[in-house]
Amino acid sequence: KIVVLGSINMDLVVRCARLPLPGQTVLADSSAEFCGGKGANQAVAAAVAGADVTMIGAVGDDAFADRLLNNLRQHGIHDACVARRVDQASGLAVISVDQQGQNSIVVVSGANGSVSPADVRAAEAIIEGCDLLLVQLEIPLDTVLAGIKLAQQAGVKVVLDPAPAPSDVPPELLKVDVLCPNESEAAELTGRPVESLDDARRAAETLHHRGADHVALTLGERGTLLYSQGTSEIIPAYPIDAVDTTAAGDAFAGAFATRWSQTGDLQEAVRYANAAGALAASQHGAQASMANHQSIENLIRS
Ligand code: ADP
Repeated sequence: KIVVLGSINMDLVVRCARLPLPGQTVLADSSAEFCGGKGANQAVAAAVAGADVTMIGAVGDDAFADRLLNNLRQHGIHDACVARRVDQASGLAVISVDQQGQNSIVVVSGANGSVSPADVRAAEAIIEGCDLLLVQLEIPLDTVLAGIKLAQQAGVKVVLDPAPAPSDVPPELLKVDVLCPNESEAAELTGRPVESLDDARRAAETLHHRGADHVALTLGERGTLLYSQGTSEIIPAYPIDAVDTTAAGDAFAGAFATRWSQTGDLQEAVRYANAAGALAASQHGAQASMANHQSIENLIRS
């Protein structure tokens, strides 16, 4: 049983030949709407991998709200803790993509900005009844901290995907069971570039000294560096034809949380999550590219 505390967004993707410059108007070739947000993406990744998932978050009181909630329900995610608020827009990301695949993104936090420590306290019984809390940083920091504290007091494991990474974090934020940054987030958190494997190992050690029990630093097609109990190892990626790596990190986090909560085996959970990340990168879209348990197992055994 997993509880995800995080963001719920509608992603509005427009494709155009060139991105508009300030003051410019361009015509788009197409537009499409996708359910997104790191919180919801990771909740979906965990649910399709077979976890029993409850989501704590918020949607607004607009046309997107019902669709966002229905989408969670269709994936079997319990939304008992998703608050609906008036006078707020649902979280929205407006994503423009040009012909070269370059993008520019505007994110409106909307209702995500109103997920509060009080919401976390209201969900106390649900958090206490879970095996693991999975959280990211697209909702207010004090809410994230309240969730981590409550889970820890109840002996519930905490996995934090520190995305998007702030450069300045309160020390208690990193005191979690597993921290799973990607390279740029690890660089942001440590203030040093993370390019080589040596850089990654040093960053993981630094993040451990700053409080994280274990660190799973994802390295894209190079796989994941797992730091645990004084040793670092690279758990390699599964070679695939990458077509869209958009939500590979979300797939990784959701699948890792699912597997670790089921088996308690870190290395096995990272292997499982690497396979989920690879499968997500081999498909277009975010939530649409999340792999189910069977296809993850098939890739591992292939
Ligand atoms: P993010 O999307 O947050 O930047 P990564 O790109 O590090 O995260 O991807 C997360 C995980 O997904 C990686 O650790 C890896 O296992 C898998 N993955 C991502 N991109 C690829 C790829 N091109 N080939 C194989 N696996 C990939």
